[in-house]
Amino acid sequence: MDIIDKINALKEEKDIAILAHNYQPPEVQDIADYLGDSLDLCYRAQDLEEGTILFAGVKFMAESALILNPEKTVLLPEPNAYCPMAAMLTPDIITKKKEQYPDASVVLYGNTTAASKALSDIICTSANAAQIVEAADSDTILFGPDKNLLHWTQQQTDKTLIPIPDEGYCYVHNLLIRPEDVLHLKSRHPDAKLLVHPECIPQVQSIADNVLSTNGMLKIASISSEKEFIIGTEKGLCYRLRNELPNKIFYEVEHAICADMKKVTLEKIYHTMKTGDNKIVLPEKILDAAREPLERMLAIGRKN
Ligand code: SF4
Repeated sequence: MDIIDKINALKEEKDIAILAHNYQPPEVQDIADYLGDSLDLCYRAQDLEEGTILFAGVKFMAESALILNPEKTVLLPEPNAYCPMAAMLTPDIITKKKEQYPDASVVLYGNTTAASKALSDIICTSANAAQIVEAADSDTILFGPDKNLLHWTQQQTDKTLIPIPDEGYCYVHNLLIRPEDVLHLKSRHPDAKLLVHPECIPQVQSIADNVLSTNGMLKIASISSEKEFIIGTEKGLCYRLRNELPNKIFYEVEHAICADMKKVTLEKIYHTMKTGDNKIVLPEKILDAAREPLERMLAIGRKN
C-alpha cells in the first residue's frame, strides 16, 4: 500500500475529513476531501459529518475549525505551521487600541490567532471584508492585521478604518509579489488578465484587472471568456486552477511561496491521522469568546 492508499484507508477507519487550503502543496491538494479559501473552509467545517477534521493549512485555520466545532477533534499535521501575519497582532495590541477608541468596532481578518479573535466584534475574510465592515455597528473600525486588505476595503466604504497593528502584512503578498513581478509577466503575456489578492500592496492592486480572494479567482476564471490569467497570490493556487480549469492558462509568480503552508507533507498527514497527535486544544474561555465573532460573519454570508 502506498501512502495515499494508507491515508484514504485511515479516513474511513477513523472518520476523518481532510480540509486543505488553496496554498497547500499539490500532493496534499490531491488527497483533500475539500479545498478552499479560509471562508469556504469555515463553512465546510460546520457542515461536516465526520468526527475528526484534519486541517492541512496553518494554525489559525485549524483553530477556527475547532472554534466552530468544539465537539469535534481537529488535527494540524504540522504543529509549527504558523501564519507570520497572524502573529503580528497580539491581544495586547488590540486591548490598547480599544482603550484609545472605545466606541470603535473591532473587525479582524480571519488570519488571526484564536486569542485575538476572542477580542473582536466580527471576523472577515478577503472575500467579504467590505460587506462585514458595512455590517459592523460603528462607523469607526479597528481593522487588522493586514494593512493591504485595509487599503482595498477602505476604497469600498465611507467608514473610517484604523489599522491594528500599524503595519501588519503577509510577507508573501507584500514582499514577494512586487509590481515588477506582475509587470514582467504582463509583458510576456499581454493578453492575460491580471488577478491579484487584496493582501498585495496598493501598487499591485492598482494595476490589476481584478482584486479577489483565491476562491474569487477560481470563480472569475471559470466564468470569464478570457483564456489566460496572471495569478498574483501564493503559487499553490495555480495547481488547483490548472486542475479544475484545464482549458485555461495560468501564469504564477514563481517565488510567491508561503513556507509555512508548504510544511505540510503526506508523511505528516499520515502520522497525524494514525497517532492522533497534534490535536488543537484551546481554553474554553477563548473558544467561547472567539465563536461569536466568527458566527456573526458566517450568519451574514448565509443571509446573502
Ligand atoms: S500566505 Fe501569507 S497570510 Fe497566508 S498563511 Fe502564509 S504568511 Fe499567512
